Amino acid sequence: MEKTLSILKPDAVARNITGKVNERLEAAGLKIVAQKRLLLTKAQVGKFYEIHRDKAFYDSICEYMSSGPVVVQVFAGPNAVEVNRKTMGATNPANAEVGTIRRDFGESIERNVVHGSDSQENAVAEIAFFFSQMEIVE
Ligand code: ATP
Ligand code: MG
Repeated sequence: MEKTLSILKPDAVARNITGKVNERLEAAGLKIVAQKRLLLTKAQVGKFYEIHRDKAFYDSICEYMSSGPVVVQVFAGPNAVEVNRKTMGATNPANAEVGTIRRDFGESIERNVVHGSDSQENAVAEIAFFFSQMEIVE
């Protein structure tokens, strides 16, 4: 079974729509095999989004992702990375396909409900960033 890291971002947690988002991912064939609620520091987010360090939105995304609680999750299933990305939709909700999580619930390109790993390689690294083996129950 492939695994991927998902984060319910502060906008989703604040609006109490985590169940609605989980429902979409579960309906797509994925299963939550690890989950925890965290209040990240700006430094922790900065490390997680390190690859975006040189982008114009880096400081803003670090502020935003540390502005309130998030729920970090590991989803498992066949082709988990690709299935998760498809179900989330494009980064900008305005460009995301109808029926995707970001199109249906996203407020803006920044406040776009969820994060999902973009490759199997990054999924492995991102899962290890947040979870120990003991916390993942398949
Ligand atoms: P994520 O990594 O969160 O799953 P993604 O892979 O679709 O999203 P990335 O390019 O990795 O998109 O950007 C990471 C996050 O940074 C986006 O989800 C969004 O919250 C924010 N972001 C991306 N581009 C912009 C932008 N142009 N302006 C503001 N925020 C942005
Ligand atoms: Mg990304």
